[in-house]
Amino acid sequence: MAQIIDGKAVSAAIKEQVRDEIAHSGISAGLAVVIVGNDPASRVYVNNKKKACEFCGIKSFEYALPEETTMKELLELIDTLNNDKNVNGILVQLPLPKQLDEKAVIERISPQKDVDAFHETNVGKIMIGNYSFLPCTPAGCMELIHSTGISVSGKECVVIGRSNIVGKPMAMLLLHENGTVTVCHSRTKNLAEVCRRADILVAAVGKPNFVTADMVKEGAVVIDVGINRLENGKLCGDVKFDEVSEKAGWITPVPGGVGPMTIAVLMKNTLTAAKIQK
Ligand code: NAD
Repeated sequence: MAQIIDGKAVSAAIKEQVRDEIAHSGISAGLAVVIVGNDPASRVYVNNKKKACEFCGIKSFEYALPEETTMKELLELIDTLNNDKNVNGILVQLPLPKQLDEKAVIERISPQKDVDAFHETNVGKIMIGNYSFLPCTPAGCMELIHSTGISVSGKECVVIGRSNIVGKPMAMLLLHENGTVTVCHSRTKNLAEVCRRADILVAAVGKPNFVTADMVKEGAVVIDVGINRLENGKLCGDVKFDEVSEKAGWITPVPGGVGPMTIAVLMKNTLTAAKIQK
C-alpha cells in the first residue's frame, strides 16, 4: 500500500515559511489578482489565493471585471498594475472570456511581476534553469517529490501531458534535477508501457481515473496533477487512486495533493517578487 503524500501539510509548511520571513524582515509584499467574468471554478481559486495572502501577510488586491471586458480595458489595467509600487505580483486568472487574447494579456504583465511564470521571458529562464519565479504547479510537484526523501537524480521520470503550464515545465524541473525524462501526450504510442518504466510518474492529463494500476511500476512515486469535477460534484484526479495506491510506493491524493501546493508556491513567488523589486 502506497504512502500518501500530504499536500496540505507540505503546502502549510511553505506558507508558514513565507509568513515568518515577511513578519521578521518587514518586507511589504502585494499581489493583484484579476478575474474576468463569472466562472465559478475561477472564483473559488481566487478566493483561495486571497485567503493564502491573508495568512502569509501579503496584501491582496482583487480586480473583478465583467464578462464583456475588452482587450483595451484589460491591458490598461495591467499597465496600471505594472506601474503600481504596492503591487509586486500580478496574476490574471485563466481561462479568460473568448474575446480576450490570453497570450497577449500574459505578455503585457511585467516579467518582474509575473508570479505565475507564464511570460515568455520567465518560461525561457525556466528552460535554461536560471529563474526567479518557479512555475507554480510543477514546482509544487517537485516539493511533494522532495518530501518523500527520494532523489530524482538518475530516476526514470514520465510526465503525461505537455501543456505549457504543467507538462513542459514539469519535465524541465525533473531534468534540472538529473532525472531521465520522457514526456507523453495524446499521440504517444504504447502509453502504458512507457509509464510502467517510471520511478516517478506525473499525470497532468485532465481526464478522470486515466492512469490505472497496469500503467504503474511497483513502488513508483505517483503525482496526480489532475483536477476533474465528476457529475456527482466530487473532485477526482487523473489517477485511479484505489487501484494505483495498492501498487505505488507513494501517491498524492485529490483533493489535498498538488492543488494546495500551487497556491503555496504562488505565495513564495510573490515574496520573491517583492524582494527583487526592492
Ligand atoms: P491541458 O488540457 O492543457 O493538457 C493536457 C495534456 O494531456 C495535453 O498535453 C495532451 O497531449 C495530454 N493528453 C490528453 N489526452 C491524452 C491521452 N489520451 N494520452 C496521453 N496524453 C494525453 O491541461 P493542463 O492545463 O496541463 O492540466 C492538466 C490537468 O491538471 C487538468 O485536470 C487541470 O485541471 C489540472 N491542473 C491542476 C493544477 C493544480 O493546481 N493542481 C494546476 C493546473 C492544472
